Amino acid sequence: MFVDSKPNLLLQLDGKLPNLALMRLSAFLKHKGETVEFRRISSPLMLEHGLFDHEWASVYASLIFERTKPVAERLRQIYPDVILGGTGWDRRVRLEDIGVTTLDLDYSLYPKYPHSIGFSQRGCRLRCPFCVVPEKEGRIAEERPIGEIWRGDPHPRNILLLDNDFFGAPGWRSRIEELRAGDFRVCFSQGINARLLNDESAAAVASVRYSDDDFRCRRIYTAWDNRKDERSLLTGLDSLVRHGVKAREILVYMLIGYWPGETHQDRDYRRRKLREFGCLPYPMPYVRTPELVGFQRWVVRRADLCMSWEEYSRARFRPEHVVRPSRAPLFDIFT
Ligand code: SF4
Repeated sequence: MFVDSKPNLLLQLDGKLPNLALMRLSAFLKHKGETVEFRRISSPLMLEHGLFDHEWASVYASLIFERTKPVAERLRQIYPDVILGGTGWDRRVRLEDIGVTTLDLDYSLYPKYPHSIGFSQRGCRLRCPFCVVPEKEGRIAEERPIGEIWRGDPHPRNILLLDNDFFGAPGWRSRIEELRAGDFRVCFSQGINARLLNDESAAAVASVRYSDDDFRCRRIYTAWDNRKDERSLLTGLDSLVRHGVKAREILVYMLIGYWPGETHQDRDYRRRKLREFGCLPYPMPYVRTPELVGFQRWVVRRADLCMSWEEYSRARFRPEHVVRPSRAPLFDIFT
């Protein structure tokens, strides 16, 4: 078998979590006896420096967000044969299409990442119009049990799940049992769908060691994207709290700027309801206009708790521009 002595270059163009596709690709190439060099591109400028220092057998790059496309385009100018993939590039491209057969993950790409990451299921029961998951992942399917996602000793018993609909898979009760029996901490990093929770699934959430994605604090992620879902969302949140989850442990992403005709009042209504409930609203602008990004900053930095939107807007969405009578900026710590 011919093995190219030149290394393969694997590039992660965005995303803060380890990139599962690149980890699989790396494992596959190494199984074939090839060598791999991995780099994270945190700024487009990095493409202009430092990639030309080698001859590569092949160049692969993965991007999650469409906003990273210009970086990928630039990369293609530099390496016309680059193999690009990921949700941000083309949802239809699969690793299997380029011959990758292994499910093994090469964690050596992320030597400082101690946790275990993977999917226990794929797909989602719903089809929200703004979401790529139904097209990308298709119907609900089981993926891996928890014991297969965990890397084993001496790694911490921390499982970061990338599932988009954990409770949509028929085997969820077994996964919960595995998490409990193994005393794992689990991060439902893509969120659980609070609208579809019932007493049984809410109790199941409350019964595991749910965590944020750094495994530093108790956290449940969920979303309220459409004001029309108010009733089912609040019923789900109520259910979580009734079974022992603290409201302040629930972070609720709010899609803003997507629905036609959405007004500031619509956004603010959801924000207020979530604050009243005691959980953490986290607006996510669909388009990054100054007003929407300002709204996000107003809420995420908790400025909404101490100054009105009108005051904040007058300060051009920058709390450090607000000077109160003492003449001291209101928020010294904000940049
Ligand atoms: S519930 Fe979440 S994962 Fe499912 S389609 Fe809607 S946004 Fe996507």
